[in-house]
Amino acid sequence: MSTSTTDNTADNTATPAPETFEYRAEMKQLLHLIVHSLYTHEEIFLRELISNASDALNKVRFRLLTDRDIVDAAAEQRIDIQLDEKEQTLTITDTGIGMTREDLISRIGTVASSGTQAFVEELKKKKDGPLNAELIGQFGVGFYAAFMVADRIVIDTRHADPDSTPLRWTSDGAGSYTIEESDRAARGTQITLHLKEDKDEFAKTWRIQSIIKKYSNFVDFPIHVDGEKVNTVAALWHRPKSELKEDELAEFYKFIASDSERPLGHLHLAIEGVVAFRALLFVPKKAPQGMFREDFEHGLHLYSSKVFIQDDCKSLLPEYLRFVRGVVDTSDLPLNVSREATQHSPVMAKIRKTLVSKLLGMLAEWAADEDQERFNTFTREFGPLFKSGLSSEFEHRDELTELIRFESTHNREAGEKGKMTSLAAYVDRMQEGQKAIYYILGDNRQALERHPSLEYFRANDIEVLLMTDPVDAFIVPGIPKYKDIELTSVEKSDLKLDDKKKKGGLSKKEAGKLIDRIKSVLGDRVEDVAPSERLVDSVATLVTGKAGMDAQMERMMRMMDENFTGAKKVLEVNMRHPLMKNLAALRSQPGRENDVEAAIEQIFAGAQLIEGTLDEPETLVSRMTELLVQATRPDAEASETEA
Ligand code: ADP
Repeated sequence: MSTSTTDNTADNTATPAPETFEYRAEMKQLLHLIVHSLYTHEEIFLRELISNASDALNKVRFRLLTDRDIVDAAAEQRIDIQLDEKEQTLTITDTGIGMTREDLISRIGTVASSGTQAFVEELKKKKDGPLNAELIGQFGVGFYAAFMVADRIVIDTRHADPDSTPLRWTSDGAGSYTIEESDRAARGTQITLHLKEDKDEFAKTWRIQSIIKKYSNFVDFPIHVDGEKVNTVAALWHRPKSELKEDELAEFYKFIASDSERPLGHLHLAIEGVVAFRALLFVPKKAPQGMFREDFEHGLHLYSSKVFIQDDCKSLLPEYLRFVRGVVDTSDLPLNVSREATQHSPVMAKIRKTLVSKLLGMLAEWAADEDQERFNTFTREFGPLFKSGLSSEFEHRDELTELIRFESTHNREAGEKGKMTSLAAYVDRMQEGQKAIYYILGDNRQALERHPSLEYFRANDIEVLLMTDPVDAFIVPGIPKYKDIELTSVEKSDLKLDDKKKKGGLSKKEAGKLIDRIKSVLGDRVEDVAPSERLVDSVATLVTGKAGMDAQMERMMRMMDENFTGAKKVLEVNMRHPLMKNLAALRSQPGRENDVEAAIEQIFAGAQLIEGTLDEPETLVSRMTELLVQATRPDAEASETEA
């Protein structure tokens, strides 16, 4: 794409005098954009140069497998960076494959890299329109990124072919470049950046070392800065599974996750297919701090052939797996791919899909372990976040559902999280004829266990899931059924329970009359009043009407919206309770209307109290005091009312 000002560009023989080549128009535009620093992280130029050097070294390594007849066949394969603060230069030298004259023209002088090529195509299309500065951010510019920090670049290079000529390429990144013969006889490439005046930081050792640690720590070849080796950690994910030792993996994990503990477990993948990638993923032992915060830094590190591209690459895993740490390395993405481009990349989507299914597979294996310890730790640390995936995960929904755990009335003594139950285990324990998987939502186990709505279930030995995680209220509506069995809240008013111990209640007629009386006292404070099937010891409970939400759900809605008013509730009353029998008898006695009314108010307030919706506890207490005054009168006429 560059045009030579001389006539003999097709001729491969070197000319002694420097030859000048003019950059093409769009290349000039590109250079202009680069120089006027459209990148926010100009330090990435070093990553680009090291990556090129590493590629060149790989080529030599490969060639040496079959051909020892090359320049400096015995030279160590390495990358050297020399910094000169006085001269303001940064020189990077590799013993790689080197470049021919043809390479310098068609690969360096021309836009060769795929990212830059695409960018130039965009530039061409937009020729007449205004240049979009953001556009460049979507592409990478490879070697030319160095012009962000340098105003003159000299490349000395000698190709590995034994008869190759050493060459020197020079450019100021503006209009043109020159090529001439040089006297540097060593194999490989040496690139000297003459740093811009305000870019002197890139001649400082500590600065360069820290950039290398960040971007190029896993590069396969030793990188020396002023003689000192900088990169230390090997790219473990490229090694065969069988070779990796637990200790090595733990050290690697600690390094990338900045954790002081060993991981709970890891997953090592080498996938060949439509998209080829390698991955090394870890589940930490402890939930990291701030895991639920919105600004929690998470996501995997993305590499392309061992060269770092991005950290917190969020598009590789769904939010509910945000605690997973590790690296993904794919050569199916260009090195220069921008953050924005990765978000919409089909390559990333394919990787993500595989990662999710492999991770869920690994967790399923943990869950199937005889010793549940690992899975229990996982559930304790990550359960709530993990569960929340049910509201967003559609593709792997079934696998996910199998892996979530709930507290339950079954393992009563277990209590603490970690001994929770799966839906599958619940179903295994279901009673004959049991029609639904029952659950109750609430804040904590102790309170829920005493909840009046559970009395029937306790009396009949039917297990109820105790949903005490705050997220449960949000995910439960997302699992209407498990294996065709409905999940049903025990607080629903239309539960169809058949009570095996139904006896000793009020007659239908008596009950009907009492219910009418209660309705007239409570008026429109309740949706309805109904005889209860679920109560055994308690006298009354508030349950959700057909259209309403569970109490816990309403509580959460109120937390988010002060003005939220839930639907009215149904008051269910226990017709077998002695208090109801008393009231039924008292109802028709003249002069006792106030006592009946006070009792009904008290019953209603008590049900509200348990539900957590009682607004005025003072009224309840003063009414109770009044009742106690009567009940404790020494000349107790009260004994008359005893049934
Ligand atoms: P990309 O690396 O994406 O292809 P670059 O602009 O960074 O784009 O480099 C263009 C080409 O120049 C490379 O593909 C390679 O052929 C050549 N090149 C760059 N640096 C070196 C080097 N140190 N040794 C050998 N060849 C190099």
